Formats: sequence, C-alpha cells, structure tokens
Amino acid sequence: MDRIIRGITKDKSIRFFAIDATETVNKATTIHHLSMTNSVIMGRMISATLMMAADLKSDKNVITLKIDGDGPAGVAIVTARKNGYVKGYVKNPEIEIPLNENTKTFDIQKAIGRGTLSIIKDLGMRNPYIGQIELKYGTIAKDLTYYFAKSEQIPSSVGLGVLVMPDGTIKQAGGFIIQVLPETQEDVISKIEENLSKFPNSTDMMHMGHSIEDLISMFILKDLEPEIKETAPVHYKCDCSKKKFELGIKLLSKKELQEAIDTNETLTIHCHFCNTDYNFDKKKIENILEQM
Ligand code: ZN
Repeated sequence: MDRIIRGITKDKSIRFFAIDATETVNKATTIHHLSMTNSVIMGRMISATLMMAADLKSDKNVITLKIDGDGPAGVAIVTARKNGYVKGYVKNPEIEIPLNENTKTFDIQKAIGRGTLSIIKDLGMRNPYIGQIELKYGTIAKDLTYYFAKSEQIPSSVGLGVLVMPDGTIKQAGGFIIQVLPETQEDVISKIEENLSKFPNSTDMMHMGHSIEDLISMFILKDLEPEIKETAPVHYKCDCSKKKFELGIKLLSKKELQEAIDTNETLTIHCHFCNTDYNFDKKKIENILEQM
C-alpha cells in the first residue's frame, strides 16, 4: 500500500519522512503516457512533494514543486496536499533520451538540463511562499538537499528513487528525507553519515523486500532509535471538476461566449493534471450566458 511515514528519533535530534509511492507513480505514468525518463522525473518529484506536504499545517495548504530546465523534458510540475493527494504534469511526456553511457541509468541530468527548481507553498495567506534555486545537480534529490540548506537553513539528506521495468511499468518508487534539528550532537551526525554511506538506494532496497519502515529503522537511522509518529495513505488524485472549469468559462467575455454559440462550437477545456476533457455544448453555454 502506498503510504508516507514521518517521525523523530527518541532524543528528538533527527526528523524523518519516508514514502512508498509505487502505485501513485504508476498511475501518473498511465494517465500521462509517460516515457521511462519522464516516469523517473515525475516519480522522484511525486515522492519529494508528498513528503514535504506531510509537513504542512493544514489540509488546505498546498505545496508545488516545479522544475524548469532547458533540457528535452522541459517543465515539470507536481502539487501535493497534506491529505496525501498529489497530481502533476510534464510538458513533454513522451520524450525519451538514451541511458547514461557510464552508469547505464536514466540520464535525468541531461533530460532536465540547466534551469531552476521552485518550491511554492500556498499556506492560505495573501501571497504564497516561493523559494527558488538554480539546478546545480539535476538529480532532484541533491537539488532538494541544497534547497533545504540554502532556503530553509535545515541540514538534510534527501533520497529519491524510481525503478522502471523494461515494459515501462513502475516496480518501485519512493524515498526519504532526513533532517537534522538544531543542537544535534556531532556523534549523531557522524552516525547518520556512516549509515547513509552504506545505504545503496531506496528502490533497490524496496525491491529486495524491505518496507520503508525497515529502511528507516534498520539502515538509515540504525542505532538512533527512530519512532514513527504517523502513517498516512497517498494517492494520485486530481481535484478538478466540470463545476470548477465552469467558473473559468465565466471569466470569458459575453462576446466570446456569444461567438461560440453563433458558430455552434463546443467549448472544450482540458485538465493538464488528469488529462480529462470537459465539454460545454451550445445549450450549456447559453445557460451560462443567461446567468451573467
Ligand atoms: Zn484534473
């Protein structure tokens, strides 16, 4: 079952988040017909955004991770809520690039290219909080580690993985975020560094049969007494509806709507997050126009 866990070590020096997002990433791959390269990009972003959303205060708060690079993948956006709902889209879903010659793995750095990573937090205030950094690494996980250090002043370690099968399905997707709280003792930090240096990567370990709970307690925070405080489900879910898009149509001018009626056009509005088309026929547009 896809889920997110969060907690803290017994001595309250280290916070942790871990996620199994395998089905969620599979769903994103199917909805958007993602290439393998894009499944990896989107999968890493989905895991990261859901973990950051778990740290929001209210269900109404929304966090968005946006990657805007000059590589062939182009722009990718993922939005998540504290309740575990996530949605996203990529500009060029079908683009595939050759594996990295040396590592024989997906060349995500090349697919993304140079550009920016932005975190947008809508906390219900007048203006959203926006943090932006240059993409220095292009792996997403390392870039987020850098983001936490630079923009939020929190020393962190971020691990994100997506294991794709040759037929394009997602075998495993998940990751972790570890954050060091102020005044953490040097020996605790060295212990984590030692644990992380021995840790291969999340999805290979999950593929070997380890749960995300195991990854934290047996490997990443081994000997540091991690305590899970919360376990919550996560889902790919778009919150769009015909009613919401009707509000968008009401923003068109009366002239534009009348034109659609006169030419007997059906207005089609496409939701980029779930690939759904909403059609508004002549009769419906006449109704909307009457109410204006
Ligand atoms: Zn939608």
